[in-house]
Amino acid sequence: MTAVTATAGTTAAHGPRPLTGKVALVTGGSRGIGEATALRLAADGAAVALTYQSRQDKAGQVVKEIERGGGQAWAVRADSGAAEAVRASVTGTVERFGRLDILVNNAGIGVLGPFEEISLEDVDRVLRTNVRGPFLAAQAAAAHLAEGGRIISIGSCMAERVAFPGGTLYATSKAALTGLTRTLAKELGPRGITANLITPGPIDTDMNPADGESATMQAGLTALGVYGRAWDVAATVAHLAGEGGRYITGASIAVDGGFAA
Ligand code: NDP
Repeated sequence: MTAVTATAGTTAAHGPRPLTGKVALVTGGSRGIGEATALRLAADGAAVALTYQSRQDKAGQVVKEIERGGGQAWAVRADSGAAEAVRASVTGTVERFGRLDILVNNAGIGVLGPFEEISLEDVDRVLRTNVRGPFLAAQAAAAHLAEGGRIISIGSCMAERVAFPGGTLYATSKAALTGLTRTLAKELGPRGITANLITPGPIDTDMNPADGESATMQAGLTALGVYGRAWDVAATVAHLAGEGGRYITGASIAVDGGFAA
């Protein structure tokens, strides 16, 4: 993926940092979109907790990068579908930083293949990570979020208006986040907490690298004709997390270069 730094592409250096005093938890913050999001929220002034599944080395690098920029960060191993680990990552964040303001449900996996060949094991693995994980994290976070709290989930354009043969399992899992987001918006709205979904198009990460035949096809299907960067998604997360997101809830926002246009 394109390398990102804690300051590149932000306006943080030019004014008061909009998330100063806020605390964010980013699931799957060790690589890709989660990494860019952790760095961006930290650059905007938030203290950031990030979870990872296996890449402790990468998570540690993100923490160091944030600390080098003068920010506060903490990485914790938490398999997205493991209830106790997810809850511990939330309570650990609150113990460490004193509060929780922003949850970014980012951790996810993709398994693609012909519908009739998808194994039961894959069904369970993908739903566990992409559905159970965000559900449990939102549930654990909701107990700590106060007025102004934010729940931001990363879905996919493949579950919205762009259906692809071979994407049944992934699209099924990501579609669940639409239901979660819209219902949470109504249920938590009276407490002043917002819930939104971002649906990225093709973004250059380990999951979907911007090279090869498939990448050329995906880029060609966008209006802009190019892949997106993890940083593009992180910028939208930062907008929703900040003052600009105050009156946005229950929304699904495409960051897809016009893939679904
Ligand atoms: P990457 O594969 O680059 O990174 C995935 C991140 O999620 C890593 O930090 C990984 O941790 C973590 N993760 C994976 N499984 C688990 C788990 N069970 N528990 C905890 N953490 C886990 O993916 P992307 O950055 O591309 O994707 C991020 C999100 O964006 C996903 O939800 C994906 O579905 C979505 N998305 C991506 C698109 C793209 O084109 N890239 C397009 C649309 C949506 P570790 O480093 O430890 O493995």
